[in-house]
Amino acid sequence: MGRAFTYVILGGGVAAGYAALEFVRRRGDASPGELCIISDEAVAPYERPALSKGYLLPEVAGGARLPAFHTCVGANDQLLTESWYKEHGIELILGTKVISADVLRKALLTSTGETISYKTLIVATGARALMLEEFGGNGSDAENVCYLRNIVDADKLVHVMRSSPGGNAIVIGGGYIGMECAAALVANKIKVTIVFPGKHCMDRLFTPKIAEFYENYYTSKGVTFIKGTAVSSLEISSGKVTTAILRDGRRLPADMVVVGIGARANTTLFDGQLAMDKGGIKVNGQMQTSDATVYAVGDVATFPVKLLGGDARRFEHVDCTRRTARHAVAAALNPSSAGDIDYLPFFYSRVFALSWRFYGDNAGEAVHFGDMSLSASSAKFGAFWVSAGRIAGAFLEGGSTEEYEAIAHAVRRGVAVPDMAQLAREGLAFVVREGQNGGSGGGGDKANYAWHATVGVAAAVSIAALAYWYGRNKAPCLVKRSF
Ligand SMILES: Cc1cc2nc3c(=O)[nH]c(=O)nc-3n(C[C@H](O)[C@H](O)[C@H](O)COP(=O)(O)OP(=O)(O)OC[C@H]3O[C@@H](n4cnc5c(N)ncnc54)[C@H](O)[C@@H]3O)c2cc1C
Repeated sequence: MGRAFTYVILGGGVAAGYAALEFVRRRGDASPGELCIISDEAVAPYERPALSKGYLLPEVAGGARLPAFHTCVGANDQLLTESWYKEHGIELILGTKVISADVLRKALLTSTGETISYKTLIVATGARALMLEEFGGNGSDAENVCYLRNIVDADKLVHVMRSSPGGNAIVIGGGYIGMECAAALVANKIKVTIVFPGKHCMDRLFTPKIAEFYENYYTSKGVTFIKGTAVSSLEISSGKVTTAILRDGRRLPADMVVVGIGARANTTLFDGQLAMDKGGIKVNGQMQTSDATVYAVGDVATFPVKLLGGDARRFEHVDCTRRTARHAVAAALNPSSAGDIDYLPFFYSRVFALSWRFYGDNAGEAVHFGDMSLSASSAKFGAFWVSAGRIAGAFLEGGSTEEYEAIAHAVRRGVAVPDMAQLAREGLAFVVREGQNGGSGGGGDKANYAWHATVGVAAAVSIAALAYWYGRNKAPCLVKRSF
């Protein structure tokens, strides 16, 4: 049994939704046999970041639920429900895992035994959560141990949270997932202890000083941090974890456990068939792999970042996913006009009443600014990373749209910093002024980059966060920022 499509998108996550919309915008409705999406999830593509935010929050009536957060509301764009794909001629093959890929024959074999062939393939398989067992741990199968990668995981987490009112949660890992889940657990009135081996939370991005602010903030909300050690095993009774045992012998009572110990890109289908780099599928500036008929986008793709001198990077962030997905479709449909992607790395998070954004690369020397004390009525602080005398990265907590615009612009331009002390003294004012003056960035073309476009997306993200509660593509009134 088999089917043939001109274009196949493998994976039905964030990238797939944005790629599908881009396809329809550029090409119009797909004709029969032209485009399909194959996904092992049971639902149409959705905005995955919602799972650790609105989905877990009790104060939003019932939490964010589908269909309100299908792609592409996260970019304040159309809400693509299952019927949208049908209306536009795109075949959604849901609940179907691709178990092998043959790049030479241009064919995919599914778990249902079907062979699906393609002329052009877009790999959008994302990443998977790393399991405790991969680090010598145990307990992933226990009823009250939760991971968070997809909506099935999120439903389990909600169920376990609701069954543990006032109980103790052990969060394993101090990265994105651990920190966002910890905040949600607190909102659900669960006592949280976060355990991780590093010196501070979010250690791949935060400086010790930035981390100290967030750790103090979480502590003020009742969260306990245990750093510099790890959970060595979980004690299980009647299918449920009762105690987490730390490497140093401490025993922590547990009503539930949330594991956020990192992710790995889903590349294995293509091992030995496509070139790999830095844990992902290697692509060029058009998101094209070592096989010209195969593109890779989103979390699974390692691509050259112009802004970083062409350095190949793989990001696990939603803005990157949306942009690489759109770019791959543009390139696949019209290779001669797409050009190479020009991406400004952008990450964000929202927890409790806090909200931060980061642009660029955290390379070089960090210069902090603003008031990092918890006593400030609302936190506004950040850091610039200065490399070779220019701003390479910028982090800002609590900024306004204009301030986020300013830091994005400064990074994009690579604003020169002749005096580090002045930057530390002036902080945001320095980049705002440099922006107004036209700055001293390294090259006119950089200056002309769509700074409004960059900012537009950033702003749209927060607007769209609100739109989730409405489930439709129109500017919402203010309810809550939480996706
Ligand atoms: C809980 C959570 C919160 C997040 N919050 C943020 C945030 O606040 N900010 C931010 O910037 N980023 C955030 N991210 C990261 C962001 O969601 C990802 O970068 C984004 O989802 C990547 O999109 P993708 O399409 O590449 O992969 P995914 O969205 O993971 O989609 C991959 C899809 O492929 C399917 N698939 C994989 N293998 C197969 C196969 N063999 N056969 C069929 N289907 C397959 C998967 O089931 C899935 O549907 C978060 C991620 C998670 C998990």
